[in-house]
Amino acid sequence: MQSIGYIHSIETFGTLDGPGIRYVIFLQGCPLRCKFCHNPDTWRVGAGKKRTADDLVNEIKSYLPYYKSSGGGVTVSGGEPLLQTEFLLPLFKKLKKLGVHTAIDTSGFAEVEKVKEMLNYTDLVLLSIKHADPEKHQNICGRSSERPRAFARYLTKINKPVWIRYVIIPGLTDDDESLDKLTEWINPMENVTRLELLPYHSMGMYKWEKLGLSYSLTDVPIPAPEQMELLRKRFSISLPHLYSNSASEPAGMQHSPGMPCQADNDRRPGIYL
Ligand code: SF4
Repeated sequence: MQSIGYIHSIETFGTLDGPGIRYVIFLQGCPLRCKFCHNPDTWRVGAGKKRTADDLVNEIKSYLPYYKSSGGGVTVSGGEPLLQTEFLLPLFKKLKKLGVHTAIDTSGFAEVEKVKEMLNYTDLVLLSIKHADPEKHQNICGRSSERPRAFARYLTKINKPVWIRYVIIPGLTDDDESLDKLTEWINPMENVTRLELLPYHSMGMYKWEKLGLSYSLTDVPIPAPEQMELLRKRFSISLPHLYSNSASEPAGMQHSPGMPCQADNDRRPGIYL
């Protein structure tokens, strides 16, 4: 019997989640509860539309010329895609047989042993670091950072290409100590090829209200473009190996970043190195 994926939504012409033009699958279900989440409608496990890997691959095949000619492929985002590894494994195996570039967009909240095989069929990991300080990580997303740390260590061990995503939230993630800790985390990861700094926004707030949830960041301002530019400069000094002379076109990469994760069109350009 084929394993079933629980799908929140699909974007057939994504340009924000990995290189090139991509088929982006947003899976349903997330174990985190990020205070800044703009997609709380993806949280519930077991909801969403059921699709098989074959079904999706057949659909993807019709778009393949676009993805391949742009250097793109398929990205699985969420929610948290690693909650559905049993579905991802056959899906990625089939895609790799077709020569498709594969990526996951994840918080890294997974048991390494359970995702190792799937990672063999994954070309790129977009790793969204919620906070580099353990206590603040717990505070911001309701979960310990131990699993994301272990996941990141494993990615480095197997030299898996990684893009880091980090949301700049005034008063929560943008102080010097937090940014220094982020640098300390990323610096030894020789497999990281890109850092995306994403400005916080509150455009998903209406979804919280719709779901009867209490949004705690109502008074948090959106970072000014000048602040984002200063932060970009800061990281260009602290992580020079990720620095590109062009702020708008990092080496080998083609697109503005989207949000850390995931299913939504409420995206804003970030600043990346
Ligand atoms: S931001 Fe992403 S990881 Fe965090 S709660 Fe929302 S869907 Fe989950």
